[in-house]
Amino acid sequence: MTREPCDRCEELLQDFLDRTLTDAEWREAETHLSGCDYCSRRYRFEESLRKYVKTSAVERMPPGLMSKLDELRGLDATA
Ligand SMILES: [Zn+2]
Repeated sequence: MTREPCDRCEELLQDFLDRTLTDAEWREAETHLSGCDYCSRRYRFEESLRKYVKTSAVERMPPGLMSKLDELRGLDATA
């Protein structure tokens, strides 16, 4: 099993989670995540962490922002 640092992926991962990727970058990140065990595990960990943080922040959010976030969440409904 190869264990590479995945520097490029590390960069993409943060943007991936922040939903700030371009379409091309998004595809690059998805492709990498599906083929890289290390990064896909990191991604799952980071995402569950962020979901937890978001959940605990939900009560303080204005309704408009909530529906905006729901839209964004719809993008990774298959994850
Ligand atoms: Zn990787």
